[in-house]
Amino acid sequence: MAYVIIGNGIASLGAIDGIRKYDRKTPITVIGAENTAAYGKPLTSYLLAGRISPERLSMRPDDYYKGKNVNLKLATYIVKVDLESRELQTSEGERIPFEKLLLATGGKPYVPQIKGLVGDDVYNFTAAKDAYRLIESVKDLKRAVVIGGGLIGIKAAESLYNRGVEVAVVETRERILPLAYDEDAAGLISRRVEEAGMLVRCGVSGKEIVRDKQGRLRGILLDDKSFLEADAIVIAIGVVSNTELAEQAGIEVDKGVVVDDNMFTGKEGVYAAGDVAQARDVIFDKDKVVPIWSNAYTQGYYAGRNMAGNKSAYPGTMSMSSISFFGMPTISVGEVNPAPDNSEYEIYTFFDERKHSYRKLVFKKDRLVGYVLVGDIDFAGMYTSFIKFKFKVDADARKRLSEGEPDVLMWPDEFFNKAWNPESK
Ligand SMILES: Cc1cc2nc3c(=O)[nH]c(=O)nc-3n(C[C@H](O)[C@H](O)[C@H](O)COP(=O)(O)OP(=O)(O)OC[C@H]3O[C@@H](n4cnc5c(N)ncnc54)[C@H](O)[C@@H]3O)c2cc1C
Repeated sequence: MAYVIIGNGIASLGAIDGIRKYDRKTPITVIGAENTAAYGKPLTSYLLAGRISPERLSMRPDDYYKGKNVNLKLATYIVKVDLESRELQTSEGERIPFEKLLLATGGKPYVPQIKGLVGDDVYNFTAAKDAYRLIESVKDLKRAVVIGGGLIGIKAAESLYNRGVEVAVVETRERILPLAYDEDAAGLISRRVEEAGMLVRCGVSGKEIVRDKQGRLRGILLDDKSFLEADAIVIAIGVVSNTELAEQAGIEVDKGVVVDDNMFTGKEGVYAAGDVAQARDVIFDKDKVVPIWSNAYTQGYYAGRNMAGNKSAYPGTMSMSSISFFGMPTISVGEVNPAPDNSEYEIYTFFDERKHSYRKLVFKKDRLVGYVLVGDIDFAGMYTSFIKFKFKVDADARKRLSEGEPDVLMWPDEFFNKAWNPESK
């Protein structure tokens, strides 16, 4: 029996670890389109900022794949999954047989409808090669416009800013960070970004990329008719699941590849994990694509265990962003923007603008289901435990959590004993 994994990101590494926990022998083949071993995508913004060297991107020592008996095929692009012949086909026409297959193809950049998008000096920001391209041209850049005010967009903007580039961020919605943060948190972060000297334009979209007669980039025209000069445009709107191979093979796809709790796609021997997969979300209690690092690794790990015959249920996805913007630490976990008219939710906020500190807790019935912290994030781990383990929260506990005083003694006795005295009965 042979395992084959398409994709060489963090979900793939999780799967190798999961398989090797139960099956140390059977060969694994990992096929990756990029020409590099798995690397830390979240670190690419630090690379672009000049804060880390390329060596720091790599996530495993050089001998990792060999040590795990993994045949790593780099710079190899799979164009077809044939479930009948149980073969993959590469863009070069090579056929690779599989018995157990993992789709770990991640996400691909979302491409907005902007006229003139194709051409020089327009960049994505979803892979290391994008960061390297930008680094190569950064010394000639005076002004850049980043399209997308989400997490990746703001990080890309901050990195360019750190390289001495004048940066403007364009966000279609009314505020930056519209998904992971709420209005107050986004406002605080936005002010920090603007104080640093970046221009933030919300509520507008890019309409046309403008070039001169020689084809050189001049800037971008926005839909409110304003114009931003730029030597580079960075598209950083986010990713959509890379589901083509699955669709073409007849595997069920919704927003991502549909999987059950074992990361199984329903087609014999075929699993999916990471940004490509739509898995169970513990907070929303439905299947979702939540494209974050920790989910991708854990999904890969559980897919690997199941592929190796150790039937085990994935504990579930939880949305989480923990990022610092211009030195301001922030974290957002779970459901942070429930509909304002939904009476099932109760929301507590604390805001000290002078200290740049914000806390928001979202309760649904007797549980904490989401929180945002900006500035003071010391108790993040404690708040997360309440969400992750679905602890019941009585009125007193709710008050203490809301006042920023979570405590391990608030954990249920049984959980506390297990966590701190694993030997106790
Ligand atoms: C700039 C940036 C910053 C981020 N920062 C954070 C952060 O701070 N925190 C966080 O939690 N998450 C962050 N993320 C998201 C996180 O990186 C992703 O959730 C994670 O990388 C997903 O892992 P994956 O293995 O599913 O997919 P990917 O990392 O996308 O890997 C998929 C791999 O599959 C390959 N592939 C695709 N199709 C084929 C094919 N047909 N044949 C062969 N190979 C193929 C791709 O080339 C790619 O190498 C960030 C993402 C980016 C881009």
